[in-house]
Amino acid sequence: MKVLKFGGTSVGSEEAIRQVAKIVQSQVEQVVLVTSAVGGVTDQLVQIGEVAASGNRVYISHFETVKVQHEQLYYNLIENKPDDKFYKIIEEFEDICKGIFLLRELTSRSSDYILSIGERLSSLIISEFFQYEGIDITLFDSRQYIVTDDHFGHANVNFKETTKRIIDAKSGFTKVSLFPGFIASTSDNQTTTLGRGGSDYTAAILAGVLEADHFEVWTDVDGLMTADPRMVKRANFIEHVSYEEALELSHFGAKVIYPPSIQPALEKGIPMTIKNTFKPEQKGTLITKEWDDTKQLIRGISSIKDITLVTLSGSGMVGIPKFSYRFFRALSSAKVNVILITQASSEHSISVGIDAKDDKVALKALNEEFGELIENHSIDPILVEKNLSIIALVGNNMRDQVGVSGQMFNVLGKNGVSIKAISQGSSERNISAVISRDDLSKALNVLHESFFLYSTKRINLFIIGTGNVGKAFINQLVKQFTFLKKNHQLNIKIIGMANSRKMIFEEDGTPLSKWESTLANGAKFDKKDFMRHMYDMNLRNSIFIDITASEDVAALYPEILKKSISVVTPNKIAATGPQADYLNLKSMSKKYGSRFLFETNVCAGLPVLSTLNDLVRSGDQVHQIEAVLSGTLV
Ligand code: ADP
Ligand code: ASP
Ligand code: MG
Repeated sequence: MKVLKFGGTSVGSEEAIRQVAKIVQSQVEQVVLVTSAVGGVTDQLVQIGEVAASGNRVYISHFETVKVQHEQLYYNLIENKPDDKFYKIIEEFEDICKGIFLLRELTSRSSDYILSIGERLSSLIISEFFQYEGIDITLFDSRQYIVTDDHFGHANVNFKETTKRIIDAKSGFTKVSLFPGFIASTSDNQTTTLGRGGSDYTAAILAGVLEADHFEVWTDVDGLMTADPRMVKRANFIEHVSYEEALELSHFGAKVIYPPSIQPALEKGIPMTIKNTFKPEQKGTLITKEWDDTKQLIRGISSIKDITLVTLSGSGMVGIPKFSYRFFRALSSAKVNVILITQASSEHSISVGIDAKDDKVALKALNEEFGELIENHSIDPILVEKNLSIIALVGNNMRDQVGVSGQMFNVLGKNGVSIKAISQGSSERNISAVISRDDLSKALNVLHESFFLYSTKRINLFIIGTGNVGKAFINQLVKQFTFLKKNHQLNIKIIGMANSRKMIFEEDGTPLSKWESTLANGAKFDKKDFMRHMYDMNLRNSIFIDITASEDVAALYPEILKKSISVVTPNKIAATGPQADYLNLKSMSKKYGSRFLFETNVCAGLPVLSTLNDLVRSGDQVHQIEAVLSGTLV
């Protein structure tokens, strides 16, 4: 027996559901099928609940949208008007919305009830369509089989009762047995959900209990990738991975599988595959118990986008063991899930990373627990830092390797990503860092570039000034582009470009051969806008190239270097002004890991500065400079 789970995008349209039918029909064995709500519907249901609870009648039109969307899907697939079973669910849906609207209250219980509508509708449509296609299918209401506690929104499964009920259901299985994912119920039949993304979990529970031969998760990507492909365009496909690594990757946000979903399959050692519904011929990622690929140091890089760091600190904490106990007890009683923990060795502080949506509850719980100690200044007020992300390197082989964290922090530092907290799991399968959310995309890309073998390294240029020198420089780039790529593995991209009249930005790089006409059609140049755009893009390996002779542009260098963007320039103003300003630039460049290079300032680009630097580095001392010949002077 096989368990097949299809996610939201896999059942997101008429075509997708037809594709699912094809995949199911091609199976020789008996199939247990688990399906999600139609893609995007759970989000819409969340919104409807919130809008209705706020007393806004607009909820009615949102409700209609969801209803019509499903009616249409039903009609397109089954070529008939939806039946009574369908409208019974719609009626319940309408009633619960009305109730929430009238009471102006959305409890976690009613929220779960509303959310369950998505999976109930999709599974009904799929089962009726499969029947219509002549597939031998039986629809089971998962709420009668998956039993949980009443922790609405994220209920915990009662495995004993659930196992019993699933085993009992087995006698009614047909060639295909369909269970809607995500939904469950308490022992007194209150509808619950297993947490967002929980359809994977439903499927894994079934696979575990039924001791399936294989567990397949069908989604919209080719498999598990070395990083979220939406954030890292060059993420690589992972062919084979161990359960432990997959677990670490998914814990840290690789949304493709929901973290606990691996557990039931892992316990029974059931091999698992992640496959692309729209490219079933692709192999997918295989996840098995034993898999140690010694070639790969890092298996993947994952992240959690929106977290809050909560810190308890103060001299009153030193050496008193109960502090951390009370800290974690308070968070746990408030049902706050702790994602990451760090403690300074001086014991002056403990910080935890939590889901951003829990920050108010966490702060309230901690203030209640420690209010008195904060008031009498034994400990500091609880510090809450928002808009942060966690980035994590995951890999089995990291534990035997020195220098991985060194490389990680070095690369992040060089790109101006500052690190708020660090944590390394005791398994050493994971090193995580808390960083600003604004830096997430840059950090993911730069780490990916550093830990996975790339044939090239991308360099992002921002060029100001397209006069004679500027033109010559860009034309030289155009000529050398292939050479630099082939011989120096550098992939040069012009991301921003400006002259005194126009400016352009192109996140994927301006086509080099057409730069002049593209720039001529750009937006009106504004120095402030140009800078803001460059900072906001926050790209890795960025270089600002000033090919103007402008004092105003030169005055921006300290600020640019501070953003960890290197400055390269033939503009002599900055390097020939007051010595203190020049020294400030050098120290900025050192502090922020950015480079300030101005070779062409001396002798019109003859290699004088680099030669001098080499001499000084090898121990020579400069005693006297007789003359500095600049291009302008000669
Ligand atoms: P489904 O609706 O099928 O459950 P999800 O949206 O929950 O699909 O998960 C699939 C998505 O996970 C992909 O579209 C991809 O953008 C995202 N994702 C995040 N991290 C990874 C990763 N490391 N590998 C593959 N996909 C990832
Ligand atoms: N439909 C639910 C969600 O969007 C469960 C799932 O898709 O796994 O979170
Ligand atoms: Mg999912």
